[in-house]
Amino acid sequence: MAVGGCFCGNIRIEYTGQILASALCHCRDCRKLTGCPFSYDFIVKSAELHVSGSPKVVAKTADSGNAISNYFCPDCGTPLFGRKANFSEEPAETTVVRAGIFDDRGILNERKPELEIFTDSRLEWVCSIEKASQFSGMLAPQESDSS
Ligand SMILES: [Zn+2]
Ligand SMILES: [Zn+2]
Repeated sequence: MAVGGCFCGNIRIEYTGQILASALCHCRDCRKLTGCPFSYDFIVKSAELHVSGSPKVVAKTADSGNAISNYFCPDCGTPLFGRKANFSEEPAETTVVRAGIFDDRGILNERKPELEIFTDSRLEWVCSIEKASQFSGMLAPQESDSS
């Protein structure tokens, strides 16, 4: 089980499932919402992600064209996770957790990013991760300069 939380500690999360994938995203939205050159994310099963506290939700249409809900600590502002916005009761099947919120650095060390997306927007001084699949935009379409 992986546990984590925000900077101030008011929001805690527990994840009881397998991490499906680890990724870096270089899109402009991720820069804004993390304040960092890119986001480092774990894709997880929503049903196995348990959240204590009440994150603030901000919905926005992403570069991909999908409406994405991003969740933040309402007190300290830590970006926690995001998922496709939908308007039913059921949350989207997968959730993209900002990996840095996990407490145990061991988990982060184990999950070196397997893929990088929106590499067209990668800052010039940021190197690609060795062996990570490279995607110029969202997942799937054309695989770009992967070595
Ligand atoms: Zn907080
Ligand atoms: Zn992004």
